[in-house]
Amino acid sequence: MVYNLVPEKVQKPVPPVDDPVRSTQKATTAHMLQVPWTAEKGWGTPLIQAYGKIALHPTASVLHYATEAFEGMKVYRGYDGRIRLFRPNLNCARLQASNARVALPPFDPDALLNLICAFLAVECKRWLPDPGTNLYVRRAMIGSGEALGITVPTEALFFVFAALFPQPAARGRRLQCKVGASYGPALMAHGMAREQGCSQTLWLLDAAQGQDQLVTEAGASNFFVVWRDRASRALQLVTPSLDLGVVLPGVTRQSVLNSARDRLQGSSSSSSRLEPLSVVERPSFMDEIVLAQSEGRLVECFVTGTAVFITPVAEIKYRHDRVSMPMTVNAEGHESPVLVYSSAIKGWIEDIVYGRVEHEWGYVIDE
Ligand SMILES: *Cc1c(COP(=O)(O)O)cnc(C)c1O
Repeated sequence: MVYNLVPEKVQKPVPPVDDPVRSTQKATTAHMLQVPWTAEKGWGTPLIQAYGKIALHPTASVLHYATEAFEGMKVYRGYDGRIRLFRPNLNCARLQASNARVALPPFDPDALLNLICAFLAVECKRWLPDPGTNLYVRRAMIGSGEALGITVPTEALFFVFAALFPQPAARGRRLQCKVGASYGPALMAHGMAREQGCSQTLWLLDAAQGQDQLVTEAGASNFFVVWRDRASRALQLVTPSLDLGVVLPGVTRQSVLNSARDRLQGSSSSSSRLEPLSVVERPSFMDEIVLAQSEGRLVECFVTGTAVFITPVAEIKYRHDRVSMPMTVNAEGHESPVLVYSSAIKGWIEDIVYGRVEHEWGYVIDE
């Protein structure tokens, strides 16, 4: 690793946790990590240098053929003062799969994780000082070589940077991998949803027979619903299954399922005050959600992902309907969705990422 560091006194000041610049999603820390690759020589020397523009030839493969794959994670400053990643091996494995899908080179996942940790050890001292806060860590791989012909990339660039996101302190159709090509075509619909006052697009898939609308994901996050099953009246936590290949296997999704199975399902829920539920991964249809709402069986909906973490859904606009979730009104008269299960699960995972409990999912980095 070569360190070409920016002296602290010339780095920008660190914006406080409630600074609005964090909502622009444009503020980054001072450095980035880059590792070049060529088909001839393999992976080159990793370099940590000032955050800045990346120069590419106009003929670069990524600009024409979307040879790009990425991962998002967060690094958390725990209440014990240490920094942690959340299940980073899963992100490394998924990047490997995404790379393969767009003919980008393979890498050693452990070596990659060590590089990311070295980068974060440099940045977190200054940029992540406050316990209970986090930085968003984006890493990407691109086909960087000149490739006007449609060929497998012979040069690639791996890079990592960290972005400052709003913090909890200030509370308030695609492939099964994270490749750039899946997201650009979805942005127009996202813009239309925003114009209608929605914060996300819930992606529905026309099922082959009839006009059933299969629920897949909400933007770049996975979708969960808690409802009472129509036939059995049993309480269920339902999320679309992965087997149809239209849902991204989110690390947060997996962790919500693991936690719910451990702590909410059947007899294992004895430790919790919550009514037990069963955890179900299956295809689910928009009409089922509409029906559950009209029959008063809907309990909660929420979305999960590294960026949004676990965020409740208040309402879904569908055709001419508004499907509203059960709401509560606080002392000041503000309405908000009922959060019983989502807030419990969120609390358990937060305890892990901020080091309130020791858990194998929390990966401690030495600074
Ligand atoms: C990243 C992403 C998710 C969430 O995955 P996490 O690993 O939990 O961050 C869900 N859906 C899509 C389409 C995504 O790109």
